[in-house]
Amino acid sequence: MSADKKISAGDLLEELDIPAQFYNPLNDCPVNCNRDYVLYWLQSSQRFSDNRALSLAGKLANRLEKPLVAAFLFMTDYPESNLRHFNFMYQGIRETFEKIQAAGAGLRVEVNGRNNFFREISKNAALIIADQGFLRAARGWRKDLAETGSIAVIEAASNTVVPVAAASQKEEYAAYTIRKKINDVRDRYLEIWELPELNQRGGKYSRIPDNFSNEDKFLASLGIPAETPKLKTGIKGGPAAADRMLENFIAGKMSQYEQRNDPDLNIQSGLGPYLHFGNISPREIALRVMDSSCRQNIIEEFLEELIVRRELSHNFVYYNKNYDKFPDCLPDWAAKTLKAQSQDRRNYLYSPEEFEQAETHDKYWNAAQLELTYTGKMQNYMRMYWGKKILEWSAEPGSAFSTALYLNNKYALDGRDPNSYAGVAWCFGKHDRAWQERPIYGKVRYMNRRGLERKFKMKDYLERIKELSPENNIAGD
Ligand SMILES: Cc1cc2nc3c(=O)[nH]c(=O)nc-3n(C[C@H](O)[C@H](O)[C@H](O)COP(=O)(O)OP(=O)(O)OC[C@H]3O[C@@H](n4cnc5c(N)ncnc54)[C@H](O)[C@@H]3O)c2cc1C
Repeated sequence: MSADKKISAGDLLEELDIPAQFYNPLNDCPVNCNRDYVLYWLQSSQRFSDNRALSLAGKLANRLEKPLVAAFLFMTDYPESNLRHFNFMYQGIRETFEKIQAAGAGLRVEVNGRNNFFREISKNAALIIADQGFLRAARGWRKDLAETGSIAVIEAASNTVVPVAAASQKEEYAAYTIRKKINDVRDRYLEIWELPELNQRGGKYSRIPDNFSNEDKFLASLGIPAETPKLKTGIKGGPAAADRMLENFIAGKMSQYEQRNDPDLNIQSGLGPYLHFGNISPREIALRVMDSSCRQNIIEEFLEELIVRRELSHNFVYYNKNYDKFPDCLPDWAAKTLKAQSQDRRNYLYSPEEFEQAETHDKYWNAAQLELTYTGKMQNYMRMYWGKKILEWSAEPGSAFSTALYLNNKYALDGRDPNSYAGVAWCFGKHDRAWQERPIYGKVRYMNRRGLERKFKMKDYLERIKELSPENNIAGD
């Protein structure tokens, strides 16, 4: 190929037979064939397997007869992040980069200096592929990158089964309005994309900090404050850990998935953090689950959560620019009803600090908060109860919304995710319907502790949480 020829990324992708729904050009700039390599800026898809962005970048590198370089930027100013998140993430990045390197690509690992990083990669790459970002900051960075240089920047739809814009062109009201749109095309997208064998080696473009392979030293050098207690579960980040988690789930608890609402049984897969960091693709999970010997209705129940509910959350943050703002992110009926009841008398009133310290009168709520604090996760039914009670026991719904998001994103390993915003907003009426009116909640769905006690063995749940933190008596009645 002639070195000076100006080609468009769109033409190249068309030539490679990549359907347009899998990528989004972020600018109109051409591919610059005079440059040395194709660059994949890895951020949301921290894995080697079934990574559409990596696979696309590899195909483009081969087509341009150039090496591939994968780059990761550790951003210590990443919104709402703390050491808990970085520990988990580091393990996944290291494992993923070892695999990408073994496949022949060059590696760049940088710390901070976002603008410099963008400038440099825009100066040296023929074109850049980024994986898709959904939240405000991540989308803003991709836009900044696309505006930094004069080369093509393409975003690949990597982290959902059905690319968000292909599933729907508007914000969906609830699961029932998006379900058919997703399920009608779902199987068509259940396809694994691997990195092709690379024709050129990119090792000479690698630049990695000397201490990168030493987890403790590298993380210490980032200077990130811990902010949360150490996790008591020994959970490890990365694709291999995700794979084991999925394997164990399919071989064990999945057959009881219908009982996942029971906080004591701990039946859920535990894959949330791995999906959040992109350590495993939802397509791979779906295909392996579909291939299991579990009953069909259980498989479909799991796929409803993994695909319909999760992708409804992606639809929400993609189309609603106020996804983290109360009451703007809510449907009108919920915003109105919560406003109308906002002055109602609260029987219990707690500050954000009291919530954070698990110091409410309710031992179940406190146990849920301790579960989050010490394991980095909270069982889904308790998450709903936890969010509803923050609404009920805060001075007004706006501060309740902020407290719930703050705690969720600070402590949960799967926090700061489209699901975080949809999950918290659900507690305030999002993606739900109006119920019978009552104090504080108005028409927003109410949950109470009698329901917990009636349905589940809450004593066993409390025992499980006590074991996690024997030094912490679970306060409350
Ligand atoms: C107040 C509140 C806050 C939440 N915050 C988060 C969050 O920060 N991050 C997060 O990933 N999820 C969040 N959820 C949704 C849900 O609780 C978790 O996705 C789920 O509990 C994760 O555990 P798991 O991976 O073991 O789930 P499993 O039941 O094994 O499900 C597998 C995957 O399906 C998806 N999924 C399951 N349930 C839901 C759901 N209700 N909505 C959307 N996707 C779902 C998740 O990606 C999950 O990892 C929140 C829910 C509520 C009510």
